[in-house]
Amino acid sequence: MFAEVQCARDDGDPAWLDDLKAVVGESGLSTAFVDRLAYARDRTPLATFHVRSGKPLGQLPVAVATPQSESEVAQIFALANAHGFAVIPYGAGSGVVAGAIPVENTVMLDLKRLNRFVELDEVNGLATVQAGMNGARFEALLNARGWTCGHYPQSIRMSTVGGWAACRGAGQASSRYGKIEDMVVGLRAVLPNGESLEVRPLPRRAVGPGLRDLFVGAEGTLGVITEMTLRIWREPEVRRPLVLAFPSLDHAWSALREMMQAELRPEVARLYDETESHERTHGEGPFARNPVLCILVFSGKAALAEVEERLTREICVAQGAVVSDNLAPYEHWLKSRFISYSPRYQAKRHFMDTIEITGRWSALPQLYQRIGAAIRELHPDVFFGTHWSHVYPEGACQYMTIRLPILEDEEGLRLHAEVWQRAQSICLELGGSISHHHGVGQLRNPWMRGELGAGQDVLQRVKDALDPRNVSNPGKLALRPRETNDNG
Ligand SMILES: Cc1cc2nc3c(=O)[nH]c(=O)nc-3n(C[C@H](O)[C@H](O)[C@H](O)COP(=O)(O)OP(=O)(O)OC[C@H]3O[C@@H](n4cnc5c(N)ncnc54)[C@H](O)[C@@H]3O)c2cc1C
Repeated sequence: MFAEVQCARDDGDPAWLDDLKAVVGESGLSTAFVDRLAYARDRTPLATFHVRSGKPLGQLPVAVATPQSESEVAQIFALANAHGFAVIPYGAGSGVVAGAIPVENTVMLDLKRLNRFVELDEVNGLATVQAGMNGARFEALLNARGWTCGHYPQSIRMSTVGGWAACRGAGQASSRYGKIEDMVVGLRAVLPNGESLEVRPLPRRAVGPGLRDLFVGAEGTLGVITEMTLRIWREPEVRRPLVLAFPSLDHAWSALREMMQAELRPEVARLYDETESHERTHGEGPFARNPVLCILVFSGKAALAEVEERLTREICVAQGAVVSDNLAPYEHWLKSRFISYSPRYQAKRHFMDTIEITGRWSALPQLYQRIGAAIRELHPDVFFGTHWSHVYPEGACQYMTIRLPILEDEEGLRLHAEVWQRAQSICLELGGSISHHHGVGQLRNPWMRGELGAGQDVLQRVKDALDPRNVSNPGKLALRPRETNDNG
């Protein structure tokens, strides 16, 4: 993989690099500066701000290894324990909370060569895939056989199936198919001590706490997911979009809550605040009087989708919504659903970020108003837009886009840190969760104690038991960072 850019080893390189090369082969290991630099960051906006100023956020890794088998992953962990280097799993580096940012003495473990489609089990509706497979490729392979995974994150083209699970991610169809933790039925993983573990894919069990969740959401801190078996679905017969104009957010929240509690399950449910609605509707047509945009898509069996759509319309109309006969906002969303607009602003030196939290329906109005007010008062030219695109019977994910203007680094970084501090602490104060699907990485470390309370100590004890040398993605999830003497 790296043969073209390989550089000779420096005299100062650690001797264990030869052992590593013996495991993954010449083409599976790079110590070239250009690769180490490329893997020194993921898509975290803070990392981008640092890179554009020429001051990387993390350390340069010692090397990048690309194993081709679970056994190679296990051998790399054995070496890490013997020599004291850190191992950071790397899917596609699309994470946005600094989960794959290297620490001192790190080997980045790029999993993209673990990318085999292992099995399509059409009788049981299950697909087994190696963790490093690209998300869009996985979905395309399923579609070719008439199936879908039902997990479509905006980053589907630039993320891996293993990364989805490691971060406990959510796709745009989560209101129908659930989050990734609702889809992972079984998995294989390598523990930090090099042992392999299989959680067999079975339809529910009552055999103690689910070991699957040691890995789903652990962001590589408790080992590496190498293979997953996912619940899959027949491709829907129909998709029925509905574009609605609500008089206010309160009316729209009530309608979505009623819809979910009535067991109606749209594939897509996207509600935008007035700022984001206006960007998509320009206040035209029914949006002149009803400024709040909501897009719903009902899918599945034609007859069922038709009934779900009709019942939902009734709920929405009773809440004052007007059904728009112009589907342009839906069509625009469909066309741009996998495109990110952040790089365009980041390249112009804006300080732009997104923060996703989750709260119960009863808390949403306060979560929206208080966080919005706290962020708007930071700067007269800050953009603050919000949408709710993952809805549940008990609440929803609040996804906020914050764009600070072009600023000097010192001021931009200070205000950016303040944005996070305000959003996360108000969220905790109002009983929400600090993350719905991006995860914790190291960016959210300061708020993990507030999130988990004594649970943070439980998590640390689990980590200490499974990874006593602290080699597997140390310092993330607010777990103990590496000490100098961990470094072998
Ligand atoms: C433009 C954009 C849009 C996004 N949209 C969404 C979205 O709609 N929904 C969503 O959920 N997320 C979204 N994200 C966030 C990100 O894409 C997801 O978190 C994704 O799941 C990360 O996958 P990855 O393969 O790129 O993982 P990476 O970024 O490489 O890694 C993320 C974390 O998981 C760990 N990890 C990766 N693979 C494994 C493995 N096999 N075993 C153990 N640990 C592992 C890493 O060590 C790291 O801590 C978006 C990001 C961007 C940049």
